[in-house]
Amino acid sequence: MNGRDRIILFPFMAQGHLIPFLALATHLEHRTGYTITIVNTPLNIKTLKSSLPPTTTIHLVSLPFNGSDHSLPPNSESTDALPHHLLPRLYHSSQTLQPSFENLISTLTNQDGHPPLCIISDMFLGWTVQIANRLGIFHSIFITGGAHGASIDFTLYLDPNSQPDSAEFQLPGFPDSFRVHRSQLKIADDSSDSDSMFRFIHLQFNLCLSSDGFLFNTVEEMEKIGLEYFRKKTNRPVWAIGLLKNEGIARKAIDVSAGRCISWLDFHRPNSVLYVSFGSQNTISVSQMMELAMGLESSGTKFIWVVRAPHGFDVDGEFRTEEWLPEGFEERITERKQGMLVKRWAPQLEILSHGSTGGFLSHCGWNSTVESLRRGVPVIGWPMSAEQFYNAKMMEELGVCVVGRGEGMEIGRSEVVRVIEMVMGGKEKGEEMKRKGLKVKEMIEEAVREDGGSLGSSVKALGDFVMAAVSSKKMIGGDF
Ligand code: UDP
Repeated sequence: MNGRDRIILFPFMAQGHLIPFLALATHLEHRTGYTITIVNTPLNIKTLKSSLPPTTTIHLVSLPFNGSDHSLPPNSESTDALPHHLLPRLYHSSQTLQPSFENLISTLTNQDGHPPLCIISDMFLGWTVQIANRLGIFHSIFITGGAHGASIDFTLYLDPNSQPDSAEFQLPGFPDSFRVHRSQLKIADDSSDSDSMFRFIHLQFNLCLSSDGFLFNTVEEMEKIGLEYFRKKTNRPVWAIGLLKNEGIARKAIDVSAGRCISWLDFHRPNSVLYVSFGSQNTISVSQMMELAMGLESSGTKFIWVVRAPHGFDVDGEFRTEEWLPEGFEERITERKQGMLVKRWAPQLEILSHGSTGGFLSHCGWNSTVESLRRGVPVIGWPMSAEQFYNAKMMEELGVCVVGRGEGMEIGRSEVVRVIEMVMGGKEKGEEMKRKGLKVKEMIEEAVREDGGSLGSSVKALGDFVMAAVSSKKMIGGDF
């Protein structure tokens, strides 16, 4: 049988990777005539299936995987299902999928009557490049994070000597203001597995360098420096095809709080509410929760705060308001209608899209970053690890973010008040951030424009990527 050309997508097993890959798959489904196939381990395929609409034409294929073969607990095939110390096992286990992935490609080739048009894989699955090269299939890495972050990561992992001894340093090629602190580097992780994790990432990134190119969920005009740096570093074509829409994709948890949050926001003035969230897996310490709570309360600003059990406590356990927050805090802010606490999970996209939301205190994960940029919401950065620092830095450069700074990693209540007043207090800085935020939003809308006039840069980049895959197939002589 001679089937349509097929594009195979293979994300790494983590929510922050599966969601953008699914967004890319949906984007390709709607814009190309190709058969789209996502490959992963059985439990992740099950989650992906429940996230797709019944009308989807996207194919989902499971590769055999048994967590217990890798000493992983039952039912844990993605990073969010595992405690931090077991993550290295999951990363290493992904390499054992090689033979079954290669078999799958052969089966699909037989079934379609020709090899797939291309394989798009995660940067942590660099080994897929070797398989694609062996079989003469076009390959691209899809980087689900930002280009500034990826540039820094690739530099540090591929060339560890680029990490000087000084506490704060500038990476070659980056602007002077773009300084990195040793404490912000993943490489500085001193867990007992850090050596084996370093070797794993070093190997995968090295393999990625033989891919035919890199796709990024970012916008060319927004991350010029990072993208240019990445092009020079890898000597490969780089296509900025974002920001991909993920609104249609069902979220992992059920937003039980959605109605409550929206009614609360409806009750407040435009741009008057600060949304506070540290993402889907990060938490802060008890002392930082106390400082943040006191800062929020004394700033007088209205806020919605997604609270999760602090560091060292079970995320699934009961939230201990009495122990983790100042005495009487929740009652006072509720009574005065100053604030609302949401336990564990809030409808982030709906909150950021609401007219009453005027700022976002965020850990600056890439998804939160793009969700605020796409809506022009100014950000107060509270980054905690690795790429979150680079994302915050990138947003500072765009003029839409101020970063809370403290002694080492600790941010005190007066700093909380200072940054909140700066962004939410009606001062010139806050107003300027809003203006710049709207400019960035327009820039993003322009990049994804598909109708009327000229096409946006991200739309053109996706077209260029498909052209590159098609012409590579012709060159290999496989115009089947
Ligand atoms: N999110 C949400 N509600 C929450 C917390 C997180 O909807 O209460 C979503 C958020 O919109 C984003 C994702 O979870 O899409 C978090 O991804 P991000 O990259 O920002 O951070 P991570 O959780 O990966 O650190």
